[in-house]
Amino acid sequence: MTFSPSPFQKHTFRGREIYVKRDDALHVDFSGNKARKFHWFLNQEFVHVKRVVSYGSNQSNAMYSLSVMARYRGWEFVYFCNHIPDFLKQNPVGNYKYALENGMKIIESLQRREDAYMYTDSSDLIIEEGGRQKEAEFGVKVLADELKKDIQKEGIKNPYIYLPSGTGTTALFLQKNLPYRVFTCSTVGDDEYLKEQFEEISEDSFPVILSSQKKYHYGKLYPELYELWQELQEDMGITFDLMYDPVGWQKFLLHVEDLEGTPIYIHQGGVLGNESMKQRYERKYETDKNNR
Ligand SMILES: *Cc1c(COP(=O)(O)O)cnc(C)c1O
Repeated sequence: MTFSPSPFQKHTFRGREIYVKRDDALHVDFSGNKARKFHWFLNQEFVHVKRVVSYGSNQSNAMYSLSVMARYRGWEFVYFCNHIPDFLKQNPVGNYKYALENGMKIIESLQRREDAYMYTDSSDLIIEEGGRQKEAEFGVKVLADELKKDIQKEGIKNPYIYLPSGTGTTALFLQKNLPYRVFTCSTVGDDEYLKEQFEEISEDSFPVILSSQKKYHYGKLYPELYELWQELQEDMGITFDLMYDPVGWQKFLLHVEDLEGTPIYIHQGGVLGNESMKQRYERKYETDKNNR
């Protein structure tokens, strides 16, 4: 399957002009970033494959997108994760809910990666956590080619790219395939961890990591980030994801004064996961209010 180019839009935020590449609108069924990273797997013939096996967190965007891929291709999908809270089992939401609806078989295991590998046989397709593998470059290069055309069409002088990283795979392959500077930030581990991830995949030029004094722990709730997310939604009319984007914007806004050129923000999708994050924020605000 092929994807039509995702929309490219000009916006203003806090008085600053910024372009947004809407990979969230790439495809109705796929989470933007993961659709790019799995593009290669969507198009391979795979004569013998009947089952796809992966592992990761219980609300992962990759998990959801793999469940879609498996459904499209008529494969079984088996997914290993460390722990599923009882609350989630009884009240499925977000990526977890929709992946189950697509027929995912989920297995709790403490050593999810090891157990996933033990489980597979030679005819299975195994996908690393978050789609962190070299095959991801194929789809990310398609994104890079779209960006080159978008930039040319809009006549943008001195553009630079910005996107928040998890594993850093997308930022790294974008930098490799684009003649512009790519800036990113860490959202999962710290900056050191992100640099190590870059070094493991390739030795070419790396994206520049924008850091912050304050540490944001992945998946934790920060009222100031929720407020920023709401401000972005109200000002630009765009719903960003709640895991990566608020940290991404927060760090971007810390540095934007010092960055030369016109920013292009990559919206990498993932809004399906917002359901569970929003519930958690709302519960937190409710408890905080009751405790005041
Ligand atoms: C997976 C994902 C990321 C992180 O991508 P990496 O290639 O792992 O850095 C960022 N945003 C969204 C919405 C994602 O789904």
